[in-house]
Amino acid sequence: MNARRTVSILGATGSVGQSTLDLIERSPSSFEVIALTAKQDVSGLAAAARRVNARHAVIADETLIEPLREALVGTGTRVAAGEAAIVEAASLGADWTMAAIVGCAGLRPVMAALRGGRTVALANKEALVSAGHIMMRTAADSGATLLPVDSEHNAIFQCFDRARPAAIRRIILTASGGPFRAASPEAMRSVTPSQAVAHPNWSMGAKISVDSATLMNKGLELIEAYHLFPLEPEAFDVVVHPQSVIHSLVEYVDGSVLAQLGAPDMRIPIAHTLAYPERMNTPCERLDLVSISRLDFEAPDEERFPALALAKAALKAGGAKPAILNAANEVAVASFLDSAIAFLDIARIAQETVDNFDPPAPALLDEVLEIDGEARRRAEQIVRKYRL
Ligand code: NAD
Ligand code: MG
Repeated sequence: MNARRTVSILGATGSVGQSTLDLIERSPSSFEVIALTAKQDVSGLAAAARRVNARHAVIADETLIEPLREALVGTGTRVAAGEAAIVEAASLGADWTMAAIVGCAGLRPVMAALRGGRTVALANKEALVSAGHIMMRTAADSGATLLPVDSEHNAIFQCFDRARPAAIRRIILTASGGPFRAASPEAMRSVTPSQAVAHPNWSMGAKISVDSATLMNKGLELIEAYHLFPLEPEAFDVVVHPQSVIHSLVEYVDGSVLAQLGAPDMRIPIAHTLAYPERMNTPCERLDLVSISRLDFEAPDEERFPALALAKAALKAGGAKPAILNAANEVAVASFLDSAIAFLDIARIAQETVDNFDPPAPALLDEVLEIDGEARRRAEQIVRKYRL
């Protein structure tokens, strides 16, 4: 890469945000940081802003503006707080924006970044699940380049011949199976939050770790893939692959199957989007097939992991259902992480919320956010019923 590119990271203090910062800090002459944002982690945000000399640091929690200001005294970094300030930070016109806020909370910021018409690297899958058609249309209208960071979608992106989508027969997403892949239904009843967030292959934020344990993550990823790659819903399959070496596959009509492989390190897909269409060096472990020696595959068990079937049904139903499913899941996962409900009740709460709320399909961003808010209120009510 020649000229210094301007970059912003929404959700800079999280797992994906920190992996992104790691790559940027290794090439200070390649990148100039415009904005970093976080929800509440003042010290993490301020430390990162100092390291990369960010122009703006924005915290979502307005009560934390003074501590953030103090933490950045003597730097040239401008500070701001509040949800609107995060949307503003996303609108500053960076050449490349990492969307790594977790949950539908990232939807307004990612839409603001897309409207800027530059490159948006998307980790925040919940935004796309809730507002897929609206986000994709906004990207097309503004001319923004939307690059998937989620490892499966990044793999598909690297294998998918966008000039010849009709030549593609099937997309196969791989799933690690999570920490309870081989657990008995009895054992899954008493799973604790710390067991659920202990993912076998990837180190990630708490919410996505729980989603990986229920397989809701794979379900959300099916919906994500449907929006990113224009095929019929039936063309998407899931296969469990415990080693997480093959990140996903694309099958062509002639029987050729292309896959992308790599160590399970998010810095690899992030680097792909950061350098795109060029390539950049990373410090990531290189793939050693001989030491891995074998790759295993199995079908997902939708009886033990009903969240996957729920997401498939929401994808097929379309309209408001994916947004409702996502909102209910966010509420249920937060309740599980608070030890308020049992692990197996996450999918039950999601299902009850989806089954009993049937608004018309949203056509506008505000309508999606209204549906998201109402689905959350309903899910909170259902959580009370399951409270431990
Ligand atoms: P995380 O919890 O580690 O970090 C989330 C970030 O978002 C933090 O910076 C936090 O401060 C910020 N944030 C949270 N709530 C916010 C709010 N209401 N307003 C503003 N900012 C808020 O999460 P993560 O694991 O880095 O995941 C981020 C996103 O990337 C998720 O959508 C996840 O599904 C996706 N993703 C993550 C991984 C991974 O390896 N961690 C892989 C694929 C996709
Ligand atoms: Mg993934």
